[in-house]
Amino acid sequence: MRSREPYEADHPRAVPRSRIVLVVRTAVCALMVTPVLRWAVIAHAVRVGRPWRRTCPRCTTPLGPRGDMVAISAVARCGRCGQRLGPPPGAVEVGVALSAAGLVFSGMRGLPLIAYGWWAAVGIVLAFVDLAVQRLPARLMFGMPSRSARQPPGQGG
Ligand SMILES: [Zn+2]
Repeated sequence: MRSREPYEADHPRAVPRSRIVLVVRTAVCALMVTPVLRWAVIAHAVRVGRPWRRTCPRCTTPLGPRGDMVAISAVARCGRCGQRLGPPPGAVEVGVALSAAGLVFSGMRGLPLIAYGWWAAVGIVLAFVDLAVQRLPARLMFGMPSRSARQPPGQGG
């Protein structure tokens, strides 16, 4: 029989402390990964045949860890010129928060949690890239064997 935590024994309807710790830990991890996902969306949301977007299209300030970190934050604007970049402010962060909450409350632990977390992160990036440019970047579609699954009919590249 599994022992209950002391607080849980005193308050049978309370949320277990271990669940709260898991939620806080997951929220911190989600907040840390969100700028990386936003950067991936901005970089990959380009037309077919174009190179990744590494700079602000207006002022050419580099984006990401070596440049403008404001652009890959929830602000979603270039820190230098104010140009809006990528998904709307907070959109990626809400997607990550909902995915993280779903993973926490699924009860998964260990490797399955990591695997589903990775899958959710890639899915979030693909969803926002697809919304922005109506295509999915081949670089992020490593698991898709079919060409028709990656591209809508009638589009090449
Ligand atoms: Zn700019």
